[in-house]
Amino acid sequence: MVNGTSLKEVHKLIETINPTYNIFNKITSLNELLKQQKNTNKPVVRYALKDNIASSDLPMTCSSKILMGFQPKYDATVTHLLKKQDNWVNLGKLNLDEFGMGSGGVHSSFGPVKNPLYNPIPESVMDSIRNNTKCDVDIDYSENRVTGGSSSGSTALASAIIPKSNINDERIAHFTLGTDTGGSVRLPAAWCNISSFKPSYGRISRFGVVPYAQSLDTVGILSADVNTIETVYDVLNQYDPKDPTSMNESIRNELSYIDRFDEIHDFVSIGVIQEFNISGIPNSTNEIYTQVLSEILSDEKNFDLKSVSIEKINESLPIYFTIAPAEASSNLARFDGIRYGPKVEDKTDVNIFENTRNLFGDEVQKRILLGNYNLSSEVYEDKFKKAQILRTELIEAFNNCFKDKHPLYNSTDNMSDKVDVLISLTGVDKAPLLSEFLSSNSVSPLDEFCNDVFTIPMSLAGLPCISIPIRDTGISIQITGQYGYDKKVLGIAKKIK
Ligand code: GLN
Repeated sequence: MVNGTSLKEVHKLIETINPTYNIFNKITSLNELLKQQKNTNKPVVRYALKDNIASSDLPMTCSSKILMGFQPKYDATVTHLLKKQDNWVNLGKLNLDEFGMGSGGVHSSFGPVKNPLYNPIPESVMDSIRNNTKCDVDIDYSENRVTGGSSSGSTALASAIIPKSNINDERIAHFTLGTDTGGSVRLPAAWCNISSFKPSYGRISRFGVVPYAQSLDTVGILSADVNTIETVYDVLNQYDPKDPTSMNESIRNELSYIDRFDEIHDFVSIGVIQEFNISGIPNSTNEIYTQVLSEILSDEKNFDLKSVSIEKINESLPIYFTIAPAEASSNLARFDGIRYGPKVEDKTDVNIFENTRNLFGDEVQKRILLGNYNLSSEVYEDKFKKAQILRTELIEAFNNCFKDKHPLYNSTDNMSDKVDVLISLTGVDKAPLLSEFLSSNSVSPLDEFCNDVFTIPMSLAGLPCISIPIRDTGISIQITGQYGYDKKVLGIAKKIK
């Protein structure tokens, strides 16, 4: 068996590159890592957690100044489940857009994360680690593209290739955990050319995960390898009485018989969403996508493609950006210097919370303002309530596309052309240049929201989705299944890949 890079070398590697790449908010000490490696004869599985997931042995900041120095007293359920696995070691806590708000990985108090796909780790770094010499991490900034967000550190770590390893394509982490409220594991994974899975809402516990918008939040899994994603999903897919939104045992039980995929015998009908054929997609991306669709058809893999129309999908961005900030503004109220956050005194101030709440970054402050506005009495009926009604209609429209029965709803429509899964691009284009991303954002802050156009609808309906890269193009496809059919989505993705 070929040995991969040792834990000691990996630790040295992440300490060396972190000041340049900004991937970690906190790196686990080497002593602690070696303690977690209980059996030195067995392969180690290296992972790390987005810094909005609690682990009792590491600080948690959500990449916000308001949580600097905060130490959780307990493990999130997902952390607990990972800690129980033999020889799985947690490398640390990973950078993110503050509180999960953003698409580029640029709204963090720790600064943007470097994209290792366009800025690979130089080989000289590994030489200096092996020779025990000092080294400057010298990377070429001419292609300084954003990683995507909000799970920016999670994506960068799972995608970063260890140079000069004995194993081909060895990544620093076998997998990482992120969170996905409207696309936060799928878009960055697409922009860094790895896979990522957003489970059905309620499949994986959110206990101990800092909420952004709890009617949408999910814990997602990122890796260069879809089989690893499935292994981790099997570990985390458990009912949790501590999470009131956890899918209950009887639905899990019912689904366990039908949420399956037989890759030899099952015929798969795939729906291509008509409304996603938007003008903003560059020709080069469309060509790659069309090519993939024709390969899927021609590979004699028992696949069939159908055009599917879901008109309501066009309303998704306004629905999301009405509901998500509203929930966020309510969640973030706890950071008031009394329950959470430092009490920043200023005797002259009439508003005792103001100094503490000024510690939030610009993007978070913007969301709080928007959320409070959406909930205010003048616009509540016209905005928040309307968005909730439209969201229900969207869920129904999705429901009517799938052959599989939703475990919570009946299908009202007798459409004969039902499909097993839907296919689309994950992002409109490959990762934008950091400079372009920042400048278009400064002209119109709404521009950033448009990056999530293909991921947000699925989040609103709580559907399971996987994003998988198309070779090394920097473009990915997204496969979406009926609510609860997570294993089927994973199975189909493995066959397509
Ligand atoms: N980009 C979206 C937002 O800023 C989604 C973020 C996420 O999924 N956490 O709300």
